Amino acid sequence: MAAERHRLGRRHLLLGGGAVGAAALCGAGYAARDRLERLWWRLPGTEVERTEGEVDHPDAEWVPAASANYRRASRPYDYAIDRVIIHVAQATYQVTLNVFQNPSHGAAAHYVVRSVDGRIAQTVRELDVAYHAGNVEYNERSVGIEHEGWVDRPQYLTDALYQSSARLTAGICDRYNIPKDREHIIPHSAVPGSDHTDPGPLWDWDRYLRLVRAA
Ligand SMILES: [Zn+2]
Repeated sequence: MAAERHRLGRRHLLLGGGAVGAAALCGAGYAARDRLERLWWRLPGTEVERTEGEVDHPDAEWVPAASANYRRASRPYDYAIDRVIIHVAQATYQVTLNVFQNPSHGAAAHYVVRSVDGRIAQTVRELDVAYHAGNVEYNERSVGIEHEGWVDRPQYLTDALYQSSARLTAGICDRYNIPKDREHIIPHSAVPGSDHTDPGPLWDWDRYLRLVRAA
C-alpha cells in the first residue's frame, strides 16, 4: 500500500502536475498507466538500453561487481527507488571491491566510497537490484552505498568521505525525487529484518544530512 501511494506521488512529480485536487481526481488513471508501464518492463528480455562502462554518478569510476551479486532490472520503471541505504563495509576500499567481484560473495552495493580522498567506485548500475540490504523489498527500492571503514574506527570517517558521499546521495535523491531526510536516507541497521549494525553510532547523521542538502 505504501508503495502504491509512493508510485502515484512520484508519477505526479514526473509529470510536473501541480494541484492536489487534480491528483486525487486523476489518480486512478495514472495508477493504471503506471501498472501498464511496469508490465511492459517486466516482459522477458525487455530492459532499458545500457552502455557498458557507463556510470550514474559523474565522478565515479566503473568497477563492476560480479553479476551473481546483483539482479538486472530496469529501475525506476519496474521498481520505484525511494531509499538510499548507508553502509560501513568493515573492510578497506580495495577489499570491498574485491569481494564484490567475487561471484560467491552473494552481495554487493551500488557504490563504494574511499576514506582517504572520497574516491567513488560504482559497482552496480542504479538500474539494477544490488544485494546489499538483506531484505528483498529494500534491495528493490534502494540504492546502496558502502563506505570504507569499520563501525568502531572513527579515523575512517574523514571529511573527504562525508563530502563525497553526500554529493553522491544528493544526486541519487535528485534523480528519483527522493526526499533528503532521515526517513529516506537510512542506515543499514534500520532495514527490517537486518542483523547488521552499520554504519554504527559514530556515523554523524546531522552532519551528513546537512551536506546532502547543501550539495
Ligand atoms: Zn551494511
